[in-house]
Amino acid sequence: MSQARDTQASERAAMEIRLHGRGGQGGVTCAKLLAAVYARLGKAVQTFGDYAGERSGAPIRAYTRVSDSPISNRNKLYQPDHLVVLDPTLLGPEVVSGLAEGGTLLLNTPLSPEAMAAQFGRFRLATVDATAIARKHGIGTRSVVIVNTTLAGAFARALDLPLEVLEAAYRELGFESNVPAAREAYSALRVREAPAGGGRLPRPAVLPGLPAVLPLSEHKEGPPTGLKTGSWRTQAPFYLRNPAPCSVRCPAGNDVVGFVQALARSGEAAAAEVLGRTTPLSAVCGRVCPAPCMEGCNRRELDGAVNVRGLERWIAERVPVAVRAAPAHPSPRRIAIVGGGPAGLSAAYVLATAGHRPIIFEAERELGGVLRTGIPTYRLSRAALDGEIDSILRLGVEVRSGQKVDRARIPELARAHDALLIATGLQRLRRVDGPGEALSGVEQGIHFLRRINLGEKARLSGAVVVLGGGNTAMDCARSALRAGAAKVTVVYRRTRAEMPAIAEEIDQAVEEGVELVFLRQPLGFAGAGKLEAVELAEVELGPPDASGRRRPVTTDRKTSLGCDLALLALGQSADASLLPAGWKLEAGRAHADGRPLNVFAAGDFSTGEGTVAHAIGDGRRAAQRALAALGLEAEVWAPPDAPKAVRPQDVRMGHFEGRPPAHEPTAPAAERVHNFEEVGRGLRDGAEARRCFSCGDCTSCDTCLVYCPEGIIRRKGTAYEVDLAFCKGCGICVAECPRKAMEMRAS
Ligand code: SF4
Ligand code: SF4
Ligand code: SF4
Repeated sequence: MSQARDTQASERAAMEIRLHGRGGQGGVTCAKLLAAVYARLGKAVQTFGDYAGERSGAPIRAYTRVSDSPISNRNKLYQPDHLVVLDPTLLGPEVVSGLAEGGTLLLNTPLSPEAMAAQFGRFRLATVDATAIARKHGIGTRSVVIVNTTLAGAFARALDLPLEVLEAAYRELGFESNVPAAREAYSALRVREAPAGGGRLPRPAVLPGLPAVLPLSEHKEGPPTGLKTGSWRTQAPFYLRNPAPCSVRCPAGNDVVGFVQALARSGEAAAAEVLGRTTPLSAVCGRVCPAPCMEGCNRRELDGAVNVRGLERWIAERVPVAVRAAPAHPSPRRIAIVGGGPAGLSAAYVLATAGHRPIIFEAERELGGVLRTGIPTYRLSRAALDGEIDSILRLGVEVRSGQKVDRARIPELARAHDALLIATGLQRLRRVDGPGEALSGVEQGIHFLRRINLGEKARLSGAVVVLGGGNTAMDCARSALRAGAAKVTVVYRRTRAEMPAIAEEIDQAVEEGVELVFLRQPLGFAGAGKLEAVELAEVELGPPDASGRRRPVTTDRKTSLGCDLALLALGQSADASLLPAGWKLEAGRAHADGRPLNVFAAGDFSTGEGTVAHAIGDGRRAAQRALAALGLEAEVWAPPDAPKAVRPQDVRMGHFEGRPPAHEPTAPAAERVHNFEEVGRGLRDGAEARRCFSCGDCTSCDTCLVYCPEGIIRRKGTAYEVDLAFCKGCGICVAECPRKAMEMRAS
């Protein structure tokens, strides 16, 4: 059966499908869907509608041409191989005009093909009640049922098209929710073959019922006709990769759209390969990063940001990212790194994967820096951290642990190595600078966390006050609860809206019973030898300061808060005194007597940013700067061009199904508060990746190809080619691209 139809089509090289429907039924979209299916099967296609300013309900026609070679004929279709009628009330001689006896007539009707045979029995009859199916699946409105996607499913059956190709096209074009109706129509189609001896007959010389319009060009296949129309054009479409806002916002420099799309299309191994180009610490970032990528995600405007952080963890838990083979370098360099935290590890990864010999000097017994001493295990399991550090070390990184490098040793290390990176993080801790700060019971939060995180038995009781509003404050508060404190209060000088801590961490702290007190500034501490209370001033918010947040203005109204332990989490900064006298940092490189040294600042020591992702990004940059200074080829990473990032208004949201984001389950608050086990349990699967719009990055969805009214876009593997000899520069392909992976340029 299908062989007979193939033969019919090949006789004329192009296969032609004409659709008749009424404005509002989606006939033009149906034609485009059919074209999308054939495009996925490797055919050249052309599809367009034939209507003017008709009102809803007026008859319209739409056309789809399919060919194995470029289509040069741009006429309407007068002699279709197949005819699709969306509304049976349109049926009449004019509608079937040009359809040869034996051609397929697909009708949307509850009637059987046999019931239609008296009038149309000379054709191959296929019927399906697409209206009833579409209504059942809720497609359209109460008054207008839209049958296009349903009927396309029946067409696929009538023409033996693979249903999975149709379904893939629906997914790409934003009709995923209509797949069940298409499947039902596919199954429900009834067919009555044309009478024996039917088949395609010679075409009638005159087309009865249609005006005699002469074709613009000869109906032929092969090289384009001489009637080139591209000279009308002043601009033409170009395919490009525009930066996605998630990638632009990632301080680690991760190709976010790249790894999320790799996961969606090819799985975890492909995604881990993309991540491993920029970071060795995805299991870490997938747990503790504040995820600015998600703040910038365009999908927030539809139904919530893609859970990029959760996906990063999902990938890293299945395939380690830091496994890039280290090639042998003809002249490997020895480069010392002071500090084995995230910046030092990131730098070591870059150097080792370029074939050099990084040597990390770490003050603690184990590597990890703030990841090990500052971040509690309930946020970052040590198994995840140790796994990633092991992967980095296996690349050939030497470690000298338990070696605290001071100012005096810096020049010696610089001399003994080809280059030196200083990645000591933020060592200077902010204080209250008020009375009573030396009382027993007043402690820097970062010291408290170190004691807890390195396994010191710290049993608490009574009331704990934490001063600050960032992640260290949340870590202190939640760790204090777990260590046995009866009551924990976080005191912050602004309001919840201005707290720099990760929003989920604040929510989880509150769930666990941490109290938040806002608009209070610490003045000092009261107690007789031992802390009894924190003295506070009430605060009002003034105009915004340099950070964009409203400036806290201290009033003379004072309060105090009784407590047994006060933890200071007021901020940290780099300790520049580590640099020897006369050394200065300029653009991240140390200089002495105005001359550059092969000594580079890395991570928080250089930027003061204080997030793991920033440390990873700057660690990489510092390593690349060192290689460049040594005359070794190294591209120094710079963040992408933010103003060019794809904006929400550039995305055609209507192409995408609404689907809320996947959140990772957490241990119940009542349970988790009694132990230091990891709270977040990771996403259940990687399906969240399919919510990504792929902003600015072509997914080979065929939308441009299908919507081009000239039918002059062709697929070449996963890329596309526009026949500019015929492109009139209308820009419809660019306007229809769901993700701004094309733009019009002067031509
Ligand atoms: S490192 Fe942070 S900002 Fe970058 S992709 Fe991962 S979660 Fe997003
Ligand atoms: S939808 Fe995908 S590509 Fe677009 S910003 Fe969000 S994560 Fe990035
Ligand atoms: S350029 Fe846009 S419309 Fe064309 S295939 Fe790529 S993503 Fe789809």
